[in-house]
Amino acid sequence: MIDDVLVVGAGIIGLSVADALAREGMTVRVLEMDRVAGAASGAAAGMLAPLSEALVHEAGDPGTNPLVHLGLESLARFESLCHRLREETGIDPELVRSGLWRPVADGRERRAAQAGFDRIGPRAGAIEWCHGGDLEVALPGLARGIPGAFFSPLECHLRPPLLSRATAAALRTRGVEIEEGVAVLRLRTEGRRVVGVETHSGLRRAGRVVVAAGPWTTALLEPVLGADGLPRIEPVRGQILALQPPLPAVRGIVYGADVYCVPKRDGSWIVGATEERVGFDRRVTAEGVARLLDRARALFPSLASATFERAWAGLRPVEANRWPRVGATDVEDLFVAAGHGRNGVLLAPITAERLRDMLTGKRPPSRDALARDASA
Ligand SMILES: Cc1cc2nc3c(=O)[nH]c(=O)nc-3n(C[C@H](O)[C@H](O)[C@H](O)COP(=O)(O)OP(=O)(O)OC[C@H]3O[C@@H](n4cnc5c(N)ncnc54)[C@H](O)[C@@H]3O)c2cc1C
Repeated sequence: MIDDVLVVGAGIIGLSVADALAREGMTVRVLEMDRVAGAASGAAAGMLAPLSEALVHEAGDPGTNPLVHLGLESLARFESLCHRLREETGIDPELVRSGLWRPVADGRERRAAQAGFDRIGPRAGAIEWCHGGDLEVALPGLARGIPGAFFSPLECHLRPPLLSRATAAALRTRGVEIEEGVAVLRLRTEGRRVVGVETHSGLRRAGRVVVAAGPWTTALLEPVLGADGLPRIEPVRGQILALQPPLPAVRGIVYGADVYCVPKRDGSWIVGATEERVGFDRRVTAEGVARLLDRARALFPSLASATFERAWAGLRPVEANRWPRVGATDVEDLFVAAGHGRNGVLLAPITAERLRDMLTGKRPPSRDALARDASA
């Protein structure tokens, strides 16, 4: 039997797309060269933080930034998504409606952040400014000299490996085969149409192919797409670590200018993350860990006595224009969903929805569904 859709890559993007299509009654197969969420999707901190990501890491006007617009739309899907996954699989992705603290270093940073939140407007939720005694209660152990912090109530977090595992389990109960340890060697085309993929065990035919191969996407697409239509997606290493108590009694993400701390439900903290262009090198380095710990201790000096649990690294798939490529390609029946950079977990539900609508004919095929929507 020929599958309706073959998805290349079992990261959170490929799994979410497969889930959306299978729920429409399509026959779907996922091929993964390694294991489910073995790459960036298993390494992520799990913040769902479109406002802070846009304000701290994006240039330009946050009022018109598509990450804010689409990130908030995607964020709104998580409550029901996590509920459904828990019901269907018994696996809880541990969504915590924690809110997010954004400490500022001085008056200039405060004014800049306030201006950003003002540009976003009521969509940002009820942003609060906290300082003095209130700050000491809300963020015990915060370094002296930090004048205050904004609280962003909508932003929150979950456990990405659990989200991926739950999505994979839901797919399997629906009869979707996820084949781990099966690398796609190349795409097979006939004329300007894709007909399947080649693996070590032969040709796998499918009606359509979705490439969701993270930073490996460009290499896979290059032989069949011309230079014009080729998404340029590069790996950007992120090193990240986990700490165990003793830890400050903080609820909510603390999102600094160059480090974030995410207190998880089990009492541990995730501290991340570096940004390094070192190709496909996934090593954890002494310098990376030292840098993260130094930055985190600048926020919370008592972290010096926390228990070090472990450190790991993942490769963010970053597109040349810093915006995901989601949509059709110049080759018929070939689609791409990759390049989500720092926000692939956040943007997974909206990505899956947009691609599903395109593959089911509810939306016309377009090369860049997310960007088009954002500017609409
Ligand atoms: C340290 C770190 C922290 C992060 N924190 C956050 C966060 O807090 N919030 C957030 O939203 N995002 C975060 N991200 C970003 C997020 O993890 C990524 O954007 C997202 O995981 C990308 O998912 P993906 O499915 O596109 O790619 P990947 O997870 O890389 O999955 C692609 C999969 O395709 C497979 N593959 C590749 N080539 C082939 C082939 N030829 N054949 C078969 N399989 C193939 C790979 O093995 C891989 O499993 C973080 C990333 C890192 C590294």
